[in-house]
Parts: sequence; C-alpha cells; structure tokens
Amino acid sequence: MIQSYLISELSKWISATAIIKSDVEISYLVTDSRSVSNPGNSMFVALRGSNHNGHDYIPTLYQQGLRCFLVDEDYKTDATLTEANYLVVQDTLSCFQQLAARKRDYSTCPVIGITGSNGKTIVKEWVAQLIGTTKNLARSPKSYNSQIGVPLSVWQLTKETEIAVFEAGISQKGEMQKLAQVIKPTIGLVTNIGAAHQENFSSRKEKLFEKLQLFKNSEVIIYSRDVPFVKEGIREIYPEKKTYTWGSDKSADVRVLKKEISGSVYKVSLQKEGSDIELEFPFTDEVSFENGMHAVSTMFYLGYTVSYISEAVKKLVPVAMRMELKEGINNCILVNDSYNSDISSLALSLDFLIQQSRKGNVVRTLILSDIYQSGIKGDKLCKRINDLLKEKGIDRFVGVGEVLAQHAGVFEMDSAFYASTKEFLDSVTHNSFKNEAILIKGSRNFEFEKVTAFLEKKHHQTRLEINLNALVDNLNYYRSKLNEKTRVLAMVKAFSYGSGSFEIANVLQHQKVDYLGVAFADEGVELRKAGISLPIIVMNPESKSFPSMIQHQLEPEIYSFKVLSEFVDELKKEGLSKYPVHIKLDTGMYRLGFVESQMESLKEVLGQTPEIRVKSAFSHLVGSDGADFDEFTNLQISRFDKQTSDLESALGYSFIKHILNSAGILRFPDAQFDMARVGIGMYGIGAVEQQNLKCVTSFKSYISQIKEVKAHETIGYGRRGELAYDADIAVVPVGYADGLNRRLSNGVGKMMVNGQLAPIVGNICMDMCMVDVTGLRAKEGDEVQVFGTDISVDELAQELGTIPYEIFTSISRRVKRIYYYE
Ligand SMILES: *Cc1c(COP(=O)(O)O)cnc(C)c1O
Repeated sequence: MIQSYLISELSKWISATAIIKSDVEISYLVTDSRSVSNPGNSMFVALRGSNHNGHDYIPTLYQQGLRCFLVDEDYKTDATLTEANYLVVQDTLSCFQQLAARKRDYSTCPVIGITGSNGKTIVKEWVAQLIGTTKNLARSPKSYNSQIGVPLSVWQLTKETEIAVFEAGISQKGEMQKLAQVIKPTIGLVTNIGAAHQENFSSRKEKLFEKLQLFKNSEVIIYSRDVPFVKEGIREIYPEKKTYTWGSDKSADVRVLKKEISGSVYKVSLQKEGSDIELEFPFTDEVSFENGMHAVSTMFYLGYTVSYISEAVKKLVPVAMRMELKEGINNCILVNDSYNSDISSLALSLDFLIQQSRKGNVVRTLILSDIYQSGIKGDKLCKRINDLLKEKGIDRFVGVGEVLAQHAGVFEMDSAFYASTKEFLDSVTHNSFKNEAILIKGSRNFEFEKVTAFLEKKHHQTRLEINLNALVDNLNYYRSKLNEKTRVLAMVKAFSYGSGSFEIANVLQHQKVDYLGVAFADEGVELRKAGISLPIIVMNPESKSFPSMIQHQLEPEIYSFKVLSEFVDELKKEGLSKYPVHIKLDTGMYRLGFVESQMESLKEVLGQTPEIRVKSAFSHLVGSDGADFDEFTNLQISRFDKQTSDLESALGYSFIKHILNSAGILRFPDAQFDMARVGIGMYGIGAVEQQNLKCVTSFKSYISQIKEVKAHETIGYGRRGELAYDADIAVVPVGYADGLNRRLSNGVGKMMVNGQLAPIVGNICMDMCMVDVTGLRAKEGDEVQVFGTDISVDELAQELGTIPYEIFTSISRRVKRIYYYE
C-alpha cells in the first residue's frame, strides 16, 4: 500500500506556512508537471531551475485536478484557484528533500546507498535482480540519483519495504551531504571514481571525499580492494568504519583467485572465509565483471547463501538504459523500452509514449510481459497496472505471460492475453495494429525484441541515432547563457539539421521553447499535421504556399516589399487582420531582408497595413563564430539596434527583436535583445565551448560481409583500391546515396569498428562501401560508426573542406532515424 499523509501533517514536517482549504491525503510528490497520474492525492513541488520555473505550471495542474502545492515565498498565490492548498516555504527543493528524509526515518529496513562515477545504475539494478523476489524491494527508478531524483526515489518507501537500493550522483561540492540526509544508507557501496575530476572539483581526491560523505552513518562500506585510491580515501575519512571488500588482494573479504573467459561466460574463482566459490557471470567484459562483483559482494554481505547467489548470478541480464522511438507498420509509432520492468518505470515510459504520440495515433496500446516486481502478489500487481493504465488513458492492452493471463479479468480496457511471446506472434498479423502509439515493454526473458522486429517498419539497417537527452542538455546549455527573459527560437529547418522533424519539434515543444523556425512552408505544415502547436516562423515563404501557411497558422518571414504585398493580398482575401509576421532586416549578409535604404518606406508601408502585425524583427549575423569578424558583427548589431528602435517608434508598438544564432549566444551575450535563435549548437556542434556540448547524432551501419582478399587485388569500381598486403575487407551497406560523401573514398575516410579505426578502401559506391579490417577485431554483423560519439563530425567536416551543417543535412531521408532517451 502506498502510504498517505494529510497535507496538514506534511506541513508540520517542514514548518511551512500552510494555506489549507481542505485537508487532503497525500500519497505522491510530483516535480514534473507533465507526469501526474493521481492528481487527487498528489502534491506538486514547484522547483525553480535556471531556465524553468515550476510555479508556472500551477494553473494547468489545478485544471487537471491537483489541489496541493509546495511553493516558495516569491510565488503570488492565485486567487482564482479557489480550492488550492499551499505549503509556503523559503526553499522548495530543500523542503522536498526534508519530506523524503522524514519518510526515510519511518523506515527501518536496510538501505543500500550506491555512489561512484560509473556503474551506479547497473550495480543497483543487478543487486535488485539478485535479490529477486526474496524481499519486497524499493529502488531508484532508472538513474534517478540527483538532488530531485533521490527524494523521488526515497519517497517510494513504504511499511512493507524490506530492503531498498538507492543511487546518489553529484556534480558539485556540498551536494552529497544533502543526499546523505535523504538516503541515510545503512550499507554503503562505492563503484569506482573516474580518473578525471569534473570542473567543479579541484582534484580527484576532493571528488572522492565528497562522494564518501554519503556513508557518514553507514554501518559498512563495500568497495573494491584493488583500487588503492578508494581504499586510502576511506581509511583517511573513516578510519574506524567497518568495510567489506572484494579484490585480488589477500586481505579482501571476497578474494578473487582466478577469472577466465570461457565461451560466453566469465568463470570466477573466489575465496570467502576460507571456502572456495565458483561463479559464472553471463558476460565477458571487464566492466561488467567489476559491476557484477560489486553486486555479488553486497549479496554476500547481506547473508545470502553461496548456492543462492551462484544460481542467481547466472541469470543476470544486461541493463539496457534507453528507450527507443521507432517508426512502426501501418502508421504506428513504437516506443521500445528495454529498461527493467517495474511499475515506476512503466509509468515513466507511458508518459514518454503519450508525449511522443502524433495526431494520427488514435489508439494508445501497451504490450507488456509479466513483470517480476519483487514482493507484490499477482492480483495486487495487476490491479495496480490496471489503475495506472486507466490514469494514463491507455486504450488497448496486450498481456504476455502467465501471471497477466491469469488475472485477465482485472483489466478494464480492450485487452488480449497470451501465455508466451511465441503464442502472441503466432496469433497476430500486421493488420492487428493500425494508427496506434504502442509501448513495448517486456522482461528480458520474454525476448520482446522479436515483438519490436515484427511491428517495426522495415528499412535498411544503416541508421542515424539521435540522443534526445543530449539534445535537451545542449538546448539547456544555451539557455543557461541567456537572461531569464530572453526567449528561445529553436531552428528545425532542413529536417532539423537532418535529424528529423516531428520528433525533434515535439521534444522542443515539451521543453517549452518559444518559437520554432523552418525553412519552407511544407516543413511547417508537416509539423502542424503531427500536432505541433508552437508558433512557427517560415524563413523562406513562397507565394504559392501562402494559403496553406494561413490555414496552418504559420508565420512568414517578410523580407521584401513584394512578399509583403503578396501576403497581404492573401490576407485580404481571407478577411484577416493583425496576422503575425516577422520582418527580416539585412544588416550585412546581403541575402534576404530589407536594406538600410528601404527603411523609410518600410515604416510607411507597415504603418498602413492593418492586415499584419509585426510580431518580431530580426537579422542574421554573417560571422558570429569568428573573432576575425567581431568588428563587423558589432557593426551589424548596432545597425540592427538602430533600425529596430526606429521601426518600433514609427509603428507605435513594440515587437520581439532577435539577431543571435548559436555561436552569437556564446560570443555576443549583450546582443540578446528579446530572443535568440539556436540551431547547430542544439545538435551538438559549437564554434566555441564545444566541450560543453553533447553528441546528439550518430550515423551507424554494420558489416554485412567480410572477405579475405589477396595482395595486389583491387577493391571496387575503377580498381582504385589496390591492396599492398593480404587483407580482410568488410562490406558496409552505406554509400553516397545515404549521404556518405564520395570524397571519403580511398582512405580519406575511416569508420569505427569495435573501437578501432578502419579505413575506407576503394571508391565509395552508391549503396555500399568497403573498409579494411585487416588485423582488427571485426566480424560480420558488427556495428560500424560513420560519425558520432567516436568520430567527430567537426573533424570529418574539416577533412572534406566543408562544415558540419552540410554533413548533417546530407544524410539521405532513406536512412532510418532512431530516437532514444537514456
Ligand atoms: C539557420 C539559422 C539560424 C541558426 O544558426 P546556427 O548557426 O545553426 O545556430 C539562425 N537564424 C537564421 C535566420 C537561420 O537561418
């Protein structure tokens, strides 16, 4: 049972000033206005971030039926929300943490707290997998380990919880202490501490010491004895504390005697308290071994028996940490979520499904396998799933597995049940799914990748993977450089710089950017049809598209008197007035826009045209990324400043003014005016401060065939690739028709195969190319990266004598785009 507390009681926990109209039972705390599922007994915690103010969402949440709000003193309560209850405090984040800390205090079960630079989530998930159904377990959903994620995780504790595993991550000094007060781990676990120290720490040691703050009151710290740096750090801070260690060192509690790869398993010989133990991990890489040993040591410490652990270890499954969005058959979209199954992650994935649904997806469907939520009985679990599906408005439910099938009667929506994945696949046809937004979520052993493969629209396997978290992080990075009041226009022209249209626009809409910019009307129409409601500027409006622009409320860039009069004619036909338009001023690019000498007549004409309303005026910088041009950039800015203020006084009303693009935001922060237009930077390329941006797009393919070819033979068309030695040549199904520039032929370009660079041999063909994998670890089916996380687009662009913009936008539409969240 989810515990609930009266809001009046919660108020006392944090000494809030309470404005309570009627006392409400609170079970859930919510920080994300987009994912509320039980408005009746939730309290919304309004948090302020650098580019986000939670208080702004209170009216919308009130409309959705939410009545309780934790707000700060700067918030002016809204009198029209007559039934709202408020807890008013100085600092909402810190009170949110206090609430969770208090709930933690009511719990007496062992709590494992995990920190470290890498592996926290995997170790946490593996500890949970190993504990399995032996105990009622609570754990952080996904990688919820931040100042906000930790209290959300800890708030899940209930009276029934028998053990909890939470992870804690920090990026700054002082943060761990706060997390420590919320988690109060009885058992501490350090994974590893990365070699580099982040910008906010002066040294690696300082970072370690900060992390170790988590364990102030823990009874024990579990760690690897083989990392002297961690061992010494723990000794220094906690000389008296009990530790439980693993490693090859003689004094380790769990000693690793031997480990060897045997086929697809890692065989490990251990010694613990004098007795020998053999384990078989179902993976063969060193990182997984380390994570596995952390999890196993924790199990030993908890007192599980050797025979239990050795059986459980064999069944460990990889922790996939991303959610993919794919194009499905019959106008369906698929969200493929291979995160481990549990109710809280199901709720998050359903939110993602709803967020990504398009207008044409008239049915929302969930295909779910049995989920092994520890400690909850089948009927109870099914009731909770049913409640969740009703709350989220899921229309159709497909249950796969015996537990779900046994409780078929619990589900109130259109539903069907199958005992196994095979039975499901044998029973349905492609016609069974149409115009649906489908979430596919299965436990590993159900092999739901077969379900995904069945429902997926088939393309060839060369693909562009787009990391949506990275896109959002980059957007927020640019936002952090802007004043609070400066609006953001996100450029999604040219198929969002090659990365996709609706999917990107939808994320941006969700992130509450103010405007979208497209190049042509068609792109805007496509976005409207898919359900994007943000204002959209069309940079290149063509007169034949004016009717459809007006029909879809797209706002034109007006760059000449001709465009102005033609657009106004169309507005007159429709009998419209005050239609929002954007005036383009040419301050030095000499592309589109009104030049200085036209300003007088422009003022006059605009003043006499009631059909339109100037929503904004803008100009574009020609060299904002280069110091060589700074003088000219400043000249453009001052021309713009003068022209727009003249125009404003002539028109007698104000409008939005904007001139900065991505590079301009970083280099000319004083020229923000009222809005900035971010483009390439969002997609991970920055002329300056590149290191603060994340890679968003990776262009990938795979090896379809490997051939042994003798020295002096030649590879491909025109016999250009003559071999100097006996070589292994791999064929990769990506060619110039996919956007692989043919100038990368004959060794100019290289591709990444299993972390090794393989040069392109011979001429690139239309649909394929060949790479030399002689002496490399490579086999048929292996993934190949053209560019992305491992090969930078910047370098590729330099090699080709072009710019990243061209590389991104040259990738053919036939290349499948795959979007994912990590
Ligand atoms: C493309 C474009 C931008 C974005 O430029 P980036 O260099 O990609 O940030 C801004 N303004 C206009 C008018 C554009 O056409």
